Amino acid sequence: MIPNHSVSLDDHAEIETRADKPEEACGVFGIYAPGEDVAKLTYFGLYALQHRGQESAGIATFAGEQVHLHKDMGLVSHVFNESTLSKLPGNLAVGHTRYSTTGSSRKVNAQPAVVDTRLGSIALAHNGNLVNTGHLREELLKSKCNLVTTTDSEMIAFAIAEEINAGADWLEGCIRAFNRCQGAFSLVIGTPTGVMGVRDPNGIRPLVIGTLGENPVRYVLASETCGLDIIGADYLRDVEPGELVWITEDGLASFPWSQQPQKKLCIFEMIYFARPDSMMNDETLYSYRLRLGRRLAEESAVEADIVFGVPDSGVPAAIGFSQASGIPYAEGLIKNRYVGRTFIQPTQMMRESGIKMKLNPLKDVLYGKRVVIVDDSIVRGTTSRKLVKTLRDAGVVEVHMRISSPPVTHPCFYGIDTDTQDQLIAATKSVEEIAKQLEVDSLAYLSWKGMLEATREDTNSFCSACFTGDYPTSIPEALKGSKLILEKAAV
Ligand code: SF4
Repeated sequence: MIPNHSVSLDDHAEIETRADKPEEACGVFGIYAPGEDVAKLTYFGLYALQHRGQESAGIATFAGEQVHLHKDMGLVSHVFNESTLSKLPGNLAVGHTRYSTTGSSRKVNAQPAVVDTRLGSIALAHNGNLVNTGHLREELLKSKCNLVTTTDSEMIAFAIAEEINAGADWLEGCIRAFNRCQGAFSLVIGTPTGVMGVRDPNGIRPLVIGTLGENPVRYVLASETCGLDIIGADYLRDVEPGELVWITEDGLASFPWSQQPQKKLCIFEMIYFARPDSMMNDETLYSYRLRLGRRLAEESAVEADIVFGVPDSGVPAAIGFSQASGIPYAEGLIKNRYVGRTFIQPTQMMRESGIKMKLNPLKDVLYGKRVVIVDDSIVRGTTSRKLVKTLRDAGVVEVHMRISSPPVTHPCFYGIDTDTQDQLIAATKSVEEIAKQLEVDSLAYLSWKGMLEATREDTNSFCSACFTGDYPTSIPEALKGSKLILEKAAV
């Protein structure tokens, strides 16, 4: 019989799916389009990139030398309205949506970061994290830079200003500054004369170029292709690792600035962060995630009645798992799509009656079934455990959990918030121990090889350091010590 009581969770009535996931750093957007409403186009670009950061949003426009800036805490749709956008005139714009990975979540840390130089202002929007901020900060403070925020993004802007004020032109000054930076940086930089798009020598965070219209061609930069689609721009190509593109009234010019560029795109962008409708390597990420699920089914088959994904990010892999295994796909959990972050605690009565704020099980679908539940990753494991209990309370008889990525054993230093190493469940526990802790009947992760081979790209062209500890840049000892807790303890 299907239980007719509401399923109660332990202490907390809600299932916080995102809180137990790596958090994305930022989304960036830039446009050079004289004669168009660049602020409004940037607003929609950021709206499409909202999944990359929900804490603050900002847009800077340039009308000649004059820079106009509006930024605040909150979602893109809360920060801007017709009135604020109408006060942002100009020919070009840069925009940013932020999740704080360095610097606390405060308005002053919202981007774009605007800094004055000898040649005029720059407005800089950054996705990624630098790993040499300690050193860079010391250098900048020595030369009496007036750092007002706590972000590495502002340090990049000040390093550019410092080079320009020492006599360099825009290009030379920027390239000199980028050579002082180590780590992950995909940047969009507005100046009075044009917009720049830049990627670090490893191209860890994505950045794409699009075109808008034909005569004349307008150029757009965005973290993902979904930021182009929303304004009707066509994808042209990626900004390459170690490349600077400079978009002015003369069109788009390319300047490779790094001596040793290599492609090391964050594999987690492919598995989970980027929107499934964004294109990478000539296909949607939905298609890649389907293949992850198929490979997962081949590697860790199991007998079950239905398979479903943890909404939304686990769904494509679950469909792939179903296709390869022949186990019927079904919806097992429904996500409340209108729930944002809430700071209001549920009432005691809500807790007791078990109202789910984010995910609700479909009890009649689940009752009496052996289920395969597919998720894209496990970080701390707290959410997965609650989820398993919810399924059992709904009458599921066997829970087989399948994860479409390998165990996360190392922290990220490149702009993804994955906690310190000791917080990562797979850093301290075996797969068997994790299965026991989550109270599942079986647990299997996708192999590292399987994850990379499913890209159908050169398997060396990705960063997968959070699964291996093999970071594509050197990590300064002081920074390592702050996150690689277990390695430190082992020394
Ligand atoms: S360490 Fe992991 S999350 Fe960070 S950039 Fe590399 S693959 Fe991405």
